[in-house]
Amino acid sequence: MTTSGKCIHINGVVQGVGFRPFIYNLAQRHQLTGWVRNTSGGVDIHAEGLPNILNTFIEAIPREAPPLAHIDSLTTQDCPVEGFTQFEIRFSAPVAGQFQPISPDIATCDDCLHEMNAPTDHRYRYPFINCTNCGPRFTIIQDIPYDRPFTTMSDFPMCDVCKAEYHDPTNRRFHAQPVACPDCGPQVWLEIDGETVSHRDDAIVQTIEWLHNGKILAIKGLGGFHLACDATNAEAVRELRKRKHRIDKPFALMMRDLDSVRGHCTVNADEARILTSKERPVVLLNRRTDTHTIPHDVAPNQTLLGVMLPYTPLHHLLFADDARPLVMTSANFSDEPIVTDNDEARAKLSTLADAFLMHDRDIHIRTDDSVVRVVNHAELPIRRSRGYAPYPVHLPFEMPSVLAVGGEMKNTFCITRDGYAFMSHHIGNMENYETLQSFEQGITHFERLFRIKPAIIAYDMHPDYWATRYATQRAIDDNIPAVVVQHHHAHVASVMAEHNHTSEHPVIGVCFDGTGYGTDGTIWGGEFLISDYTDFDRAAHLKPIPLPGGDVATRKPARMAYAYLVHNNIPIPQNAPFLNVLDNTERRIIEQQVTSGLNTPMTSSMGRLFDVVSSLLGVCHVVTYEGQAAIELEVRADSQAPGHYPFTNADTIDTAPIIRAILGDIERGETVGTIAGQFHNTIAQLIHDVSLRVATERQLNTVALSGGVFQNVTLLQKVTPLLEKAGLTVLTHRLVPPNDGGLALGQAVIAAKTKAREITV
Ligand code: ZN
Ligand code: ZN
Ligand code: FE
Repeated sequence: MTTSGKCIHINGVVQGVGFRPFIYNLAQRHQLTGWVRNTSGGVDIHAEGLPNILNTFIEAIPREAPPLAHIDSLTTQDCPVEGFTQFEIRFSAPVAGQFQPISPDIATCDDCLHEMNAPTDHRYRYPFINCTNCGPRFTIIQDIPYDRPFTTMSDFPMCDVCKAEYHDPTNRRFHAQPVACPDCGPQVWLEIDGETVSHRDDAIVQTIEWLHNGKILAIKGLGGFHLACDATNAEAVRELRKRKHRIDKPFALMMRDLDSVRGHCTVNADEARILTSKERPVVLLNRRTDTHTIPHDVAPNQTLLGVMLPYTPLHHLLFADDARPLVMTSANFSDEPIVTDNDEARAKLSTLADAFLMHDRDIHIRTDDSVVRVVNHAELPIRRSRGYAPYPVHLPFEMPSVLAVGGEMKNTFCITRDGYAFMSHHIGNMENYETLQSFEQGITHFERLFRIKPAIIAYDMHPDYWATRYATQRAIDDNIPAVVVQHHHAHVASVMAEHNHTSEHPVIGVCFDGTGYGTDGTIWGGEFLISDYTDFDRAAHLKPIPLPGGDVATRKPARMAYAYLVHNNIPIPQNAPFLNVLDNTERRIIEQQVTSGLNTPMTSSMGRLFDVVSSLLGVCHVVTYEGQAAIELEVRADSQAPGHYPFTNADTIDTAPIIRAILGDIERGETVGTIAGQFHNTIAQLIHDVSLRVATERQLNTVALSGGVFQNVTLLQKVTPLLEKAGLTVLTHRLVPPNDGGLALGQAVIAAKTKAREITV
């Protein structure tokens, strides 16, 4: 056989992830000659050798690719043999306008952990050990090309040991930009009242001691500071709640390993896989009922615990000798963004933390921990941030560059380029100056990082959203066309886009959430929208109910429940539990508001219907975090409860029969679990019946489920099989959150398609 040549081009996240050394070593193993180099948008390989060996080499590439690499496409082509005598890594200067998908931050790999735990290793117990397969990326990158001078590691010149590894193509640290060791890299220290009390390993040992003594520590991590305490110490947990003014919202936990997680929660195979994945999100797990070492205050009124495994070397060191779980909650002050900077931490967290475990590697971009639930063997993202951002979502079509600014709550923005949608990290609730600043800085950073100049701006229809104000101003300043997108249409388009829906036929978008601005100026949120990427038709929706006092009603489900009954002329039960939280004055005001309509917008929101039921059942009357009443209703629901309540299958869906039937069940002494379970069955049945009717009338076959209500796994698990049994295709979220954290993706595709249509018309 004679030597032949192959040119191979690979696209995806293949730079800064050890891809060239991987190819180099793979080629050596196969005794091939030629070269590998980075190019615009990917990696090029020229390989020469025997044809069958070339084929095994090519087959091995996707199979053996390094953990951080993500191959989008691999194409090969025969090319002339040039007679190379060896295989080499070629270096190429960056090209102007060239861009590369950037890797998210990745959990410490097993090889690094092994070295960190080996007493003879140069990096024994070094809290910043990393390699090309793991460690910080997105949070330390200031600009591209991804090279050490453009990261926050530029402050740390490499020592000779690190340098040798960095330049050795056979080494695991070849071109690992954050490479460091105890001699040349970042260090930790412990600070109390502004005084450094211990350094390096002593600081870690002392931190553990303090945690075990019930203290609250601010610990600088990968994407920001955490506030940490011993999760088995009820008093410490209560104290942390008090200091953070956080009443009910659950705290995330970090546990040493899968075994310790299994000591507190049930973990199925899918959950175990996601817990130990390189993204290491917080996974919401069912807590075990036979053990109570974790106090109620960690997650009040919950049957779920949010748990993550250690994802940095420092985390692993904190658990070295003790399996005690830790509370690890984002360190911020009253809903401001997570604190990232040492001085900022000293200034803002001094009333929250007893001590600070600091380090001197700067965090360029803040990223909060990601949160997922696991449903039908896949991730259902609740918050997509650290470990996922800025990994792109692949678009179903090539698009111009769009900046979509997202919504008001749980904000993320999105910037598109070619076939990619770069969804930002979690920005947060746009209710204070700091978050707004973080939003604007984030946009500037993404535009520079991905070399994008937006050609179109997309924004929500709500005139008062901060993101909307930014978008309209930016459109004027930079003279960019702007497209306004209806909130629920954006939700539906986001789940369509993540499923690469390209059919000519529209989908039946079932969009259930808390609130969103409708085209008629009222508040929507219980919508059946026949949608494609440019238009929608509001086929059906819940019959609107009053929101007495607007936002006040959103924060107080008891007001919603009372107003609902008054509005629908349903007699108030004498012993209704919500009467305990509404005094006579408040009741009178609500009655007046409902009859006069004064300061009482109407809403078709499904989220508010959950609030009504939650309060009627005495589950939750006042919320201290978004979605609380619905979340607590879900955890109380007996998912085995049979049957459902009556409702009208019409274009305006009257929910009063549901509420009347629920009141009847309460009076008969049915349990909260059964009623909550039947209510979930009812909503599933309602989605099924209305979708099926609309599908038949309009000859459609795909249902897309989006909006914050679909964070409810109990509902998803009931409705999906119902729809599928009816022969409908169901699209649910797997890549971006169903809540407003996924909104920007839908805004972007709608804006692009709308503009494209204007141009062709
Ligand atoms: Zn590693
Ligand atoms: Zn070094
Ligand atoms: Fe929404």
